Amino acid sequence: MASQAKGGARVALVAHDRLKPAMTVWVARHRATLTTCEVVATATTGSMVQRECPDVAVCTVLSGPLGGDQQIGALIAEGRIDALIFFVDPLTPMPHDVDVKALLRVALVHDVACAFSERSADFLVAGGALASRRS
Ligand code: PGA
Repeated sequence: MASQAKGGARVALVAHDRLKPAMTVWVARHRATLTTCEVVATATTGSMVQRECPDVAVCTVLSGPLGGDQQIGALIAEGRIDALIFFVDPLTPMPHDVDVKALLRVALVHDVACAFSERSADFLVAGGALASRRS
């Protein structure tokens, strides 16, 4: 992820297909916070967010099923992500289920602030988790 020298947190965004519209709505609601953040997203999530919220700068990695979840996991393992906002679809089988589990696991291992739904992501913002980097 390219350094953009912003004061806010380094945030990773991932949304499964059914939840991508909810992710773009969530980003639009929190654009004032997210414009201060360094944002990285899986390819399709990122392109939808960029289209709806062009003022939020988003770096993209590969699409999740093509290795993007693993790339986000690697950024977490390297200490380069402060918060993971991952809108997980609990009702649809995923061909890359193992990658999803690996991403959740590495986020837990590194104690990254995580949210897996709109409401929990609202609490991350309200609690200040996106306001600054972890140490
Ligand atoms: P996408 O990846 O944003 O490229 O669709 C997300 C995922 O399904 O893991």
